[in-house]
Amino acid sequence: MKKMKKILVLTIVCSMLTSLGGCSKRETKSLAASLESQCVSQESQDNSYLRDRETKTKKIAEEDQAARDAEARRQAQEEAEKRNQAQRQAQAEAEKRNQAQRHAQAEAEKRNQTQRHAQQKKAEISSENKNKSATVYIAPTGKRWHYLPKCAGKNATATTIAKAESLNLTPCKKCAK
Ligand SMILES: [Zn+2]
Repeated sequence: MKKMKKILVLTIVCSMLTSLGGCSKRETKSLAASLESQCVSQESQDNSYLRDRETKTKKIAEEDQAARDAEARRQAQEEAEKRNQAQRQAQAEAEKRNQAQRHAQAEAEKRNQTQRHAQQKKAEISSENKNKSATVYIAPTGKRWHYLPKCAGKNATATTIAKAESLNLTPCKKCAK
């Protein structure tokens, strides 16, 4: 503050001297010269002060800019990270859905298989029952049952496999392999 006051006073004196420039008195001239030189010295000081301040202001501005840049970069990174996280989450959820779907498919496949097995079993039983009810021929004294009546002999009678089996008869090795 003191310096500012000095500058102000000197500036006023300088401007006064400038107006007194036309004065013819010697003393006034020498005083003017002395004050002018002081003025110039002060001016150079002022200039250096201004330069210093300018440099400082510039430095502060640069630092501010650097800080803003760093903040902008940090925010950009943060947003990129956020986006990546969202993407990863979406992928994880998609993976979860896929897994659930695969699981459901596996379950459906299992059910189908079970159903097919049941149907197959049923078909087998049905086929077996059909076989058991198939007509075969037995001889009154034979130990075998035959598909062909000729093989069973002259006195053969028609019956079913189930009945033949209940009589402990076994399939003929020639016609009922
Ligand atoms: Zn036979």
